[in-house]
Amino acid sequence: MHQFLKARQDVLTQIAQACQTAHRNSDDVQLLAVSKTHPSTALEEMYRCGQRAFGENYLQEALQKIADLKSLEIEWHFIGHVQRNKTKLLAENFAWVHGVDRLIIAQRLSTQRPQDMSPLNICIQVNIDAQESKDGCQPNEVMQLVEDMSQLPNIHLRGLMVIPAPNNRQAFKDAQQLFDKVKENYPTLKTWDTLSMGMSGDLLDAVQAGSTMVRVGTALFGQRDYH
Ligand SMILES: *Cc1c(COP(=O)(O)O)cnc(C)c1O
Repeated sequence: MHQFLKARQDVLTQIAQACQTAHRNSDDVQLLAVSKTHPSTALEEMYRCGQRAFGENYLQEALQKIADLKSLEIEWHFIGHVQRNKTKLLAENFAWVHGVDRLIIAQRLSTQRPQDMSPLNICIQVNIDAQESKDGCQPNEVMQLVEDMSQLPNIHLRGLMVIPAPNNRQAFKDAQQLFDKVKENYPTLKTWDTLSMGMSGDLLDAVQAGSTMVRVGTALFGQRDYH
């Protein structure tokens, strides 16, 4: 069997097994293929294996791939940290932006989203385990951000995104509780359905804790070469 096809099936099987253990429906967890540093040809191969959602971290690299692969029906997710001066290109080129941690960023994305495109899906990135050098808002800032971001016309506020330190299962549980708390406080926020957490090394724990979208790179494409 082709290498990518096998890798993808292995990951989907892991997700399905984790769902079964957690008594969850495997349709409730989406696989985002993290393709940073891999060439457009690798994404195209993975697309031929059935993958549609791809996540990229670096804007210039992503824009090149989006141009290369514009004939394919790829759903592009930006999962890197969002800087203020990048919002326009993100709003114009992506379906999802996961790393939003300040209101000003969401406001700019909403204003800059082209009117002929559907609303931009965003996740609030939370520094769930109080890491010092990490991006993301503080957990106690989330409610106010939801309050403010949910008013913006051209974005759909979908949920939370976290990147805890390795082997921190409690952080996944904390993220899940925060996610549920927002859902309880904002029952009319119908778009609130996404908990973006889990990577190649910890996707089982993440799914058990309630992740609805795992972001997987290495287990699909192999090791990354940053040179
Ligand atoms: C690179 C990256 C991933 C994928 O990590 P792997 O360990 O290769 O699966 C997931 N999320 C974010 C935010 C990343 O930057």
